[in-house]
Amino acid sequence: MLRIAIQAKGRLNEDSLELLSEAGVSIENGKRKLLARSGDFPLEVLYLRDDDIPQAVSMGVADVGVVGLNEVEEKGFDVETVHSLGFGKCRLSLAIPKAEAYDGLGYFNGKRIATSYPAILSRFFERNGIEAEIHEIAGSVEIAPSVGMADAIFDIVSSGGTLVTNGLREVETALHSEAVLIAGRTLSEEKRQLLAQLLFRIEAVERSRGMKYVLLNLPHEKIPEAIRILPGMKSPTILPLAQEGWSSIHVVINEKELWTKIEQLKAIGAEDILVLSLEKMIR
Ligand code: ATP
Ligand code: MG
Repeated sequence: MLRIAIQAKGRLNEDSLELLSEAGVSIENGKRKLLARSGDFPLEVLYLRDDDIPQAVSMGVADVGVVGLNEVEEKGFDVETVHSLGFGKCRLSLAIPKAEAYDGLGYFNGKRIATSYPAILSRFFERNGIEAEIHEIAGSVEIAPSVGMADAIFDIVSSGGTLVTNGLREVETALHSEAVLIAGRTLSEEKRQLLAQLLFRIEAVERSRGMKYVLLNLPHEKIPEAIRILPGMKSPTILPLAQEGWSSIHVVINEKELWTKIEQLKAIGAEDILVLSLEKMIR
């Protein structure tokens, strides 16, 4: 049995549960329970505040966890970062009142900075030779400058909208963060194996993201051209059609280049093009 800690409620909760479900691990609605068991994988979910997840994993209360890299870096517990998960993206940035002139990091010497991430900020200042006063506050960091509690802030930014609303402007980024899968350093062999199995499934789900499965019919003699249009694929699957002189090509194409590729394929005579969504890519 593998125990995974995820955020009980908040920005990472839904994406974490969705990731598990896409990996074939369904969890009974556990939002009101602290602990929930999966019926189809030897896994149980421990619902926690995100701040507590790195510690829970380092202590072995949970074997693995899904949490923002920002929390992992801030808390400094000894855990292994196993995999980046691609959701919960944000950055930790310094922001100053928008009317202030900014001429580089030296600006922060002697300034008071409000933040909920004092450890990351002090390491950033140390690396850059800046001496500033760091004031730790738990929330509403972005109003600190306007109420005179601080000269600047160091906080999570994603779109930047909150900063603008509060008359602030982002000037430096210290950390790019996203949700990560972390693991304890002393997992048993059985738990290591379950983690490897879970990771294998997660990677299959990730690989299929943004990919489409395309089927099309093409005259035989156009196949070399089609293969030129579809580089990067090891080799498309080519099946003869009952109709003399025609083949069916099956290929996986990234959504980003789907329309360009399809236009090129049509131009060389492709017909009956089917685009299907792809659920898992298992290697
Ligand atoms: P908890 O009650 O679990 O302590 P919280 O209020 O500390 O929750 P959330 O606001 O739910 O945390 O954010 C959880 C994580 O989501 C953050 O630590 C960060 O990694 C990520 N995140 C992504 N975008 C944003 C954003 N715009 N603002 C805040 N967090 C974000
Ligand atoms: Mg929190």
